[in-house]
Amino acid sequence: MTSEPSDDVFVGTGDPGIRPTSLADFNGQRAAREQLQLWIDAARQRKDALDHVLFVGPPGLGKTTLAQIVARELGVNFKSTSGPVIAKAGDLAATLTQLGDNDVLFIDEIHRLNPAVEEILYPAMEDYQLDLMVGEGASARSVKLDLPKFTLIGATTRSGLLSTPLRDRFGIPVRLEFYSIEELELVVTRAAGVFGIGITPEGANEVARRARGTPRIAGRLLRRVRDCAVVSGAATIDREIADRALGMLDVDDRGLDRLDRRYLGIVAEAFAGGPVGIETVAAALSEPRDTIEDTLEPYLIQQGFLQRTPRGRVITAAAWSHLGLAPPARAVQ
Ligand code: ADP
Repeated sequence: MTSEPSDDVFVGTGDPGIRPTSLADFNGQRAAREQLQLWIDAARQRKDALDHVLFVGPPGLGKTTLAQIVARELGVNFKSTSGPVIAKAGDLAATLTQLGDNDVLFIDEIHRLNPAVEEILYPAMEDYQLDLMVGEGASARSVKLDLPKFTLIGATTRSGLLSTPLRDRFGIPVRLEFYSIEELELVVTRAAGVFGIGITPEGANEVARRARGTPRIAGRLLRRVRDCAVVSGAATIDREIADRALGMLDVDDRGLDRLDRRYLGIVAEAFAGGPVGIETVAAALSEPRDTIEDTLEPYLIQQGFLQRTPRGRVITAAAWSHLGLAPPARAVQ
């Protein structure tokens, strides 16, 4: 067996000493943590199921991890599935009927649920009832089944992707934000401990600064930095090792990777900085529109490189300067 930890082992699945097992142990997302702690305490005191929770935010910010923590803090079972996996209403019915009292059901990518499945989720969420059609044609009839009280935790990248009736059924919407550099330094330092390698505060800062505000990316970068340290015989990651490894990965000093720079470069060079429609950018980049909107753009916008306007995407003066290009004359007027 290799010792390479999987993505999940990054927080130490299977190793209770390493994985954040409580909200107090989870770095970052302070507003979300405080809110969750309150509702969890209330549910525990009432000995009742927690209201349904919707986590919204770009990939890799900790939605799945937090859902697991919520279940653990409630002291209930955690069952996990995802929108595209639940193909038929019967699949969801089978999952729901296996739940125990107050259990947590986590549905990742909940915006990708098939509408027929979504329909049976509504009464399940609202009245803890399953409304199923059995049989076909003239002999078809509707059957109602009582479900235990449970908590649905949904995760999605953008709340606008959810239908309004589904969105409205979540009593606790929680938006996750990109992590600050200080928060990611904590994540990186802790993960280095998991990997059994030392890291200086400057080394942690270098990785954190270039991780796009995202713990999953911080973990991925740290693994490659660790490899470089090991190969060069260093017991500790310092800024220089981190910088060299990240340079080889083509991650620049603002955390932008090759795809980010291609995006900005195409808008700059082929469309004079914009405005340009998202479909056009997607075609020019040969990347799916969803990937661009969910993964690429939020960070570019947050960093002030890109703006979404009613007429399309426009890159900012900061982007021109980062690319080392001069904006067209009209853009500087
Ligand atoms: P999402 O469900 O939002 O895509 P995950 O919960 O799967 O994100 O987290 C992605 C990776 O980042 C996981 O390996 C997880 O261990 C790690 N991670 C996320 N948030 C944190 C955090 N606050 N502290 C430490 N590790 C984290």
